[in-house]
Amino acid sequence: MEEIYDLIILGGGPASMSAGIYAMQTRQKTLLIEKETFGGQVSTTSSVTNYLGFPQISGRELSEKMHEHLVGTGIEIKHEEITKTELDSKIKKVYTHNNCYKSYAVIIGIGTTIRKLGVENESKYLKVGLSYSSLNDRDKFENKVVAVVGGGNSAIEDAIYLSEKAKKVYLIHRRQEFRADNKLVEDLHKICQTNKIELCLEYKPHSIVGDSKVEGLKITHIPTGDIKTLDVDGIFVAIGRGASTDIIDEKVLRNDAGYIVTNEKMETNLDGVYAVGDIRTTPIRQIVTATSDGAIAALTSLTYIKKIKD
Ligand code: NDP
Repeated sequence: MEEIYDLIILGGGPASMSAGIYAMQTRQKTLLIEKETFGGQVSTTSSVTNYLGFPQISGRELSEKMHEHLVGTGIEIKHEEITKTELDSKIKKVYTHNNCYKSYAVIIGIGTTIRKLGVENESKYLKVGLSYSSLNDRDKFENKVVAVVGGGNSAIEDAIYLSEKAKKVYLIHRRQEFRADNKLVEDLHKICQTNKIELCLEYKPHSIVGDSKVEGLKITHIPTGDIKTLDVDGIFVAIGRGASTDIIDEKVLRNDAGYIVTNEKMETNLDGVYAVGDIRTTPIRQIVTATSDGAIAALTSLTYIKKIKD
């Protein structure tokens, strides 16, 4: 007889892991599918200081603790890449390269993807000076000069983290005000006084300089249009993330920016389909809100699954 899960959870970030823990507690036959690393964006965050119970913890360690908790529930996990989903009927279908998994309910927690700079030949410089992760690549830039692009929490955290090893860090942001939390901005300004970090405000990246590796970054002063070149060995991009939902059934409603529309119970427009964490429309994207989404979706799905199986 073909196997039908009560619930399939797509993705392995905090929202999905939390959903998995609640689903297992409520004895739902659950499968969680994650292609690569557990923890999603959190796993690449250098330091988390606002998750209850952990005054200061690295994103990687927090992800590992969450994963350990999840695995301890006995949940079934598949490390496969999802290629397609069909979610508009009683039995939902989730396709990977080699399999098709079926369930009564699906929770979508696939997170978001890194936003690229959008400059010419960007991909050519990846691993030869251009990076989207200070956590993975900081050590390559010990005593070197680097640029960080962005003005949110990620960019400020990256600039501070990199300044501990780099000779100098330029922080390039397109506005005067930072989007990041006040506490981080205060920390940043303290380091700026030592000249270890230099701010380039109201600037945007123009182009990358270098033949076979990054040797500089041209930036445009937005108010005047003037272009100047920073001699840098590395460029760290931290300009946020965007929704990428190509693998999700097109009948699942998205907003104009591509995020999946849910109500407060994490229900999408399709019966038995829920979305959690960064991929859903939400004004706040934090670890704590993601884990809360996961709990709500798993508990809401329980009622639906019971009804549909009767
Ligand atoms: P954000 O979306 O918060 O910030 C992105 C930054 O990049 C903004 O300053 C934005 O400028 C700038 N930007 C966007 N697009 C471009 C572009 N094309 N060119 C130049 N600059 C651009 O992303 P983050 O990754 O910083 O944070 C994402 C979420 O994760 C947030 O909710 C954040 O609070 C959270 N987070 C929390 C952490 C923690 O609690 N420890 C750590 C890291 C992230 P502008 O401001 O002008 O729009």
